[in-house]
Amino acid sequence: MPSISFEFFPPKTDEQRTQLDRAAQVLKAHRPEYASVTFGAGGSTLSYTGDTVARLHTRHGLNVAPHLSCMGGTRAEIAELLDGYRAAGYRRIVALRGDMPSGMATAGDFRYAAELVRFIREHCGDHFHIEVAAYPETHPQADDALRDLQHFKAKVDAGANGAITQYFFNPDAYFRFVDDVRRLGVSVPIVPGIMPIANYSQLKRFSDMCGAEIPRWIAKRMQAHGDDADSVRALGAEVVAQLCRRLLDGGAPGLHFYTLNRARATQAVLQQLF
Ligand code: FAD
Repeated sequence: MPSISFEFFPPKTDEQRTQLDRAAQVLKAHRPEYASVTFGAGGSTLSYTGDTVARLHTRHGLNVAPHLSCMGGTRAEIAELLDGYRAAGYRRIVALRGDMPSGMATAGDFRYAAELVRFIREHCGDHFHIEVAAYPETHPQADDALRDLQHFKAKVDAGANGAITQYFFNPDAYFRFVDDVRRLGVSVPIVPGIMPIANYSQLKRFSDMCGAEIPRWIAKRMQAHGDDADSVRALGAEVVAQLCRRLLDGGAPGLHFYTLNRARATQAVLQQLF
């Protein structure tokens, strides 16, 4: 059985908290290895990440992995967060650079995620299992694709235990990325990040922002369904389940689902898969 994990974001209102609880309640039946919670760069959702991992851990009994992005943070602030997570008994962290929110004045003490990984190892030794981000379709700000692979390797060399990818819909991009980094000597597990499709216009917006390519055939089919939400969801579940099957058949060690705090689309994929 491949390892399954779910990613959530920190809710900010009571209504969003109820939605998160509902999603966690349904999805935990799939016995995830852990649930991760995103972090707003520059500390904008700093306390919400801590509150949300605590909620998933105590109320839903899930193993948790807070995301920690270093952009904008000082060494002292990051050390305090790490100490809090260690004291709470958490064993896994997703370490990221993050992105600088517009209008933010200071870049902080770290420039790249590799520096954060090194700092976590210096500060906490081997306490945390550290996941880092990987980009099978190349990080949008990378100088070039080959240097991006080297920068990925630097995070593993700094002490990361594994990686989760940005989402993608072309399995060849993932297999090529894994082959390329294996040739560079990287041996840690690289788990594909999976974005279930619930709403095509939202997916298109996200994909434009994070540099994920939606293949033309998927875009055209989705556009043909227009506002018919049920058929978009049905097609989305079929396309994403097929992608997951190809990834697992090709050796992917697990699947990490970007749930967007909703169970339905992720559940539809999992039901087709297992
Ligand atoms: P890095 O690995 O530091 O890379 C960033 C860029 O810098 C790349 O282009 C890389 O090639 C380049 N680079 C790295 N090292 C060097 C160097 N030495 N010299 C020159 N260039 C270099 N964002 C959030 O804000 N919060 C989250 O919770 C969050 N969760 C995420 C979870 C996953 C699984 C993924 C895939 C992404 C997530 N992101 C999150 C987005 C991420 O923060 C952005 O993509 C960000 O732009 C890069 O972060 P990174 O950790 O990959 O950075």
